[in-house]
Amino acid sequence: MVRDPGLGFPLPDNECNDKNCPYHGHLKVRGILLEGTIVSRKMQKAGVLLREYLHYNKKYQRYERRRSKISVYIPPCIPVKEGDWVVAGETRPLSKTISFVVVYNKSNPPKSGGGDA
Ligand SMILES: [Zn+2]
Repeated sequence: MVRDPGLGFPLPDNECNDKNCPYHGHLKVRGILLEGTIVSRKMQKAGVLLREYLHYNKKYQRYERRRSKISVYIPPCIPVKEGDWVVAGETRPLSKTISFVVVYNKSNPPKSGGGDA
């Protein structure tokens, strides 16, 4: 059974039975959305998302590049490989370090999704 978490992203092509899937389980996505690159997919059902952003340095009146890594949950129905650009939504803590879940893969979008993103 598919449940649209209401984020405006197309639904995934595949189905899964994961209870921690925002589309086929009971996981609620609330809070912020982050975008970034998946740099590691070695964990089961999880990956590492690298986020690069600019931070303004007041003294030198320039932007400095900063980067941070967060661990994200990847439900089995969303195909994600290393190097993919994905959107992750904030959710409740799923483990010690994971409180974000991948909701959309921009590098490999669903073929038959119903949304308009
Ligand atoms: Zn799913």
